[in-house]
Amino acid sequence: MKSTRNYSKSFIYIIAVIIILTFIFPSNGYAINSDSRDTLVLLGNENLAPIVYNDNGTAKGVAVDIAKAIGNRIGYDIVVMAVNWEQAQNMVLNGEADGLLQINPGPERDKLYDFSVPLLRSDFSIFVQRDNVALGTIDDLIGKRVGVESAGYPIILLQGYEGIDLEIIRNWETSFRDLSNGDIDAIIVDRWIGEYELAKSKIEGVKVVENPIETQYSRIAVKKGDMETLSLINSGLTEITEDGTVDRIMDQWQGKRVVYITKDYYQNFFLRSISIFLLMVALVAIYLVRKYQKLSEKLKASVKERTEELRRVNEMLKASNLKLEQISMIDGLTSIKNRRAFDIAFNKAYKLCMREGIPIALIMIDIDHFKIFNDTYGHLSGDQALIRIAEVIEDVIKRPGDIAARYGGEEFVVLLMNTTEEGAAIVAEEIRRRIEELGIHNEGMNTVITVSLGLSSFVPDDEKTPEELIGTADRALYKAKEGGRNKVVVWGQV
Ligand code: GH3
Ligand code: MG
Ligand code: MG
Repeated sequence: MKSTRNYSKSFIYIIAVIIILTFIFPSNGYAINSDSRDTLVLLGNENLAPIVYNDNGTAKGVAVDIAKAIGNRIGYDIVVMAVNWEQAQNMVLNGEADGLLQINPGPERDKLYDFSVPLLRSDFSIFVQRDNVALGTIDDLIGKRVGVESAGYPIILLQGYEGIDLEIIRNWETSFRDLSNGDIDAIIVDRWIGEYELAKSKIEGVKVVENPIETQYSRIAVKKGDMETLSLINSGLTEITEDGTVDRIMDQWQGKRVVYITKDYYQNFFLRSISIFLLMVALVAIYLVRKYQKLSEKLKASVKERTEELRRVNEMLKASNLKLEQISMIDGLTSIKNRRAFDIAFNKAYKLCMREGIPIALIMIDIDHFKIFNDTYGHLSGDQALIRIAEVIEDVIKRPGDIAARYGGEEFVVLLMNTTEEGAAIVAEEIRRRIEELGIHNEGMNTVITVSLGLSSFVPDDEKTPEELIGTADRALYKAKEGGRNKVVVWGQV
């Protein structure tokens, strides 16, 4: 169907060109324009892209460009039409056109045409399925289905071999797809043409066998005996071949040749790109993880160090707080408990005794005539006396829970738990006696230093207060002073 349509389409183009030419140059045959240039009409295969092909009614291709260059060189306008190849050959034989562009000689053809000097190199090659390794030479094609053009050189070549199942190619794309699908086993065509079609149609799964089955040089053919046209063409073609024009034209078209971009190539390229990309992502990830790990380790070490430092500081703080607490509870001069320590201990003990229902006793002690001692011996000696008296009081107090403290300037207090006035009186009396026995001379009074003591004891209850105990002991002390000093007064006996 397609072939028939192409046939009639080409025919219409030829008629149209002939009418136009006749219209423009009515009396001068093929003579052209004001320069009176002659015209040569060459026919090419409509289906040999990129060498010669029909592109919407215009002949294009590397051979077409070469033909035009020949025309320029010999001073002719060369009109090329790309038509059905069989028809083209017939038209030249019938004298309807001057020559065939791009044709390979052969025994049969030699009888019909005269051929120019070489035009283009044709590597007739076998195209097979990509995985096929069995088909490499013509002999391998015996018993196989092989696609060839109906009027091309390969069909002439293969007709000499028996047993090759020839399939006529009507459309390159369809046939290459058939090859890719395995509907035929091979296609034989000029390598350049086959590769161009594969690239254009983006057909995958097909490869070319590297070694061509035959290398030929295509030519321009004229009807047998038309030596005039042939020598014209030969002179032009020889000149443009020698001066590099043909090479330049070839170069321009080489770019349109197929580079094999197979599915494998695509897949490999894609996989390689993905792999490189993933590798880069992985490298960046590893770098970041390493960096993070290092940072994290550094941070951990730093946190550990800081925690340890903090723990040490905390312990030091605790220790110094404890020391401070202890210092704040100790009297600086006598090293026994101070008034603050006494107040805290007294409150605790008072509550405990109240809870337990046991008596609590308090002894208030005041040094006798101490002002005179100070006045006589000086303040420093007074301090020494205070230290020694404190030592005696501490020494007398032995029971756990009992407390001795410096209450004020030269006043001391003793707290005795679970002790009645009678018990406290014994302790007080011992204190009084032992201080007297120290024998610290007080010249102003002409005696030794003595102390007066007042004591009080009761079982705490809701009716009584701690102040009451202090107050009564204090008043007993006053009574002791009043009573002549160096004595113990028991509040309950006042
Ligand atoms: P009294 O027998 O009536 O108690 O006579 P006194 O002189 O002791 O009178 P009072 O108790 O009022 O006097 C306290 C004196 O104790 C006054 C002061 O010189 C002395 N004093 C108080 N605190 C200290 C101290 O820390 N060191 C010294 N050296 N003397 C002190
Ligand atoms: Mg006093
Ligand atoms: Mg005193």
